[in-house]
Amino acid sequence: MPRYAYDLVLTGGRVIDPQNDIDAVLDLGIKDGHITAVSEGISGEKAREIIDLEGDLVFPGVVDSHVHVGRGRGVGYRMTAAVGVTTMVDFGSTMDDFLAGFGERGVGQTVGALYPINRELSDRDAPQGEIAGLVDEALAEGSLGIKIVGGHYPLTPETTSEIISAANERGCYIAFHLGTTETGSHIEGVREIPELLGDNRMHVAHANSYCRGMVESPAEEILETMQLLDRLDEQVVAESYLGTINGTSGSCSDGKPDSHVTRNCLTMRGYSPTQDGLRQAIADGYGNVRVEYGGRMVLVTGTEGVKLWEEKDTDMSMSFPVNSPQATFTAATAKNEEGEFIVDAISTDGGANPRNVAVERGMALVRYGALTLSELADKLSAAPADMFGLKQKGHLGEGADADVTVIDPDVGLTRMTIAGGRPIMLDGVILGCGGTVITTAEGAPAVQEAGFSSLVAEAEQGRLYR
Ligand SMILES: [Zn+2]
Repeated sequence: MPRYAYDLVLTGGRVIDPQNDIDAVLDLGIKDGHITAVSEGISGEKAREIIDLEGDLVFPGVVDSHVHVGRGRGVGYRMTAAVGVTTMVDFGSTMDDFLAGFGERGVGQTVGALYPINRELSDRDAPQGEIAGLVDEALAEGSLGIKIVGGHYPLTPETTSEIISAANERGCYIAFHLGTTETGSHIEGVREIPELLGDNRMHVAHANSYCRGMVESPAEEILETMQLLDRLDEQVVAESYLGTINGTSGSCSDGKPDSHVTRNCLTMRGYSPTQDGLRQAIADGYGNVRVEYGGRMVLVTGTEGVKLWEEKDTDMSMSFPVNSPQATFTAATAKNEEGEFIVDAISTDGGANPRNVAVERGMALVRYGALTLSELADKLSAAPADMFGLKQKGHLGEGADADVTVIDPDVGLTRMTIAGGRPIMLDGVILGCGGTVITTAEGAPAVQEAGFSSLVAEAEQGRLYR
């Protein structure tokens, strides 16, 4: 058997790798899951397989910094692989839920999960010892960090602040869907950040989504949010998404939606924030329930939507078309006085939520002139890899993991997704299976014991922050 220098060579594509300052037509040589050569004219004779990418864009594999693929949402793996995602972080799954789904439905990507602090804790305020114990437990089970689901299931400011402190003390990644019992998932939740954060650090989830015009106009709200995030640049990382629909829960108890976000959506359009109001909103085509159909999640509304929602006793994921295009555009493109992006990354908050539009709408922003290709690759890949301490990802330098997203520039869509040197999606067909779990040094033993390969995020100075 001949010995090959490369398992795979990708030839003739335009390589966009901002971290290594590359924008040029080059070949990539891949061996044992890593990039081992980036140069012109790599000889095909040395390769086991060659893929000709002439005319295509070659991006570092997309790192989606905010998705939902756990808790019965495993269909999200196929949906994200179809749009170029090679690495992602689930924003709110226990490790049991996450690993069960990933083992069953993984398609070859590298995925971590943040432990959700949500409804159970919000019904009663937990004493400090319990919070610290919760953080330790989450890390030991293999969670990459924790997420406070405040906007949906608010905690008091005191408890919220204690969780942020407890996570920071342990160097545990902490993400926050803004909002407490005193504010909400809107601009007042943004205004509350400095008080809750103190000297700590955190990840502000979906920076665009607090600017739907609930208090001021979307234009004023997004400007205020950008100013505050810029001021807190040293302490905060953030992503934003480009989708029009949101993601929330349709679940109701005692005649009311459990999620405060769902209540907001109803109030915004003049519906009563009750179960009856929600039924009417679905019947009218404003509320959409999500169901799996044909290997993906689709939105259903109107009479059929109401029927499905009632069959499930209201316990369904939902979406409303509430995002302001002005806010999503500004969050994706705004820069500070130094010319740096205020919001670090473009995410989707998608996965099983059918709004995995980061590449598609990111390419539209490039065509519009709002981002360069290098800036887009930075926001889709380099910056989010850095956010989670993934040094082998987010770039295409020698030694990097061979994660590649191939984009057809004519239509602005992903054509091929390569993870660890293997194509996992080609022209819409999913080819991959299994995957790797992103965890911390503390969680790696639990992940391996569960039978998964693990990637340990490399903390800077003991923290998972840049
Ligand atoms: Zn989310």
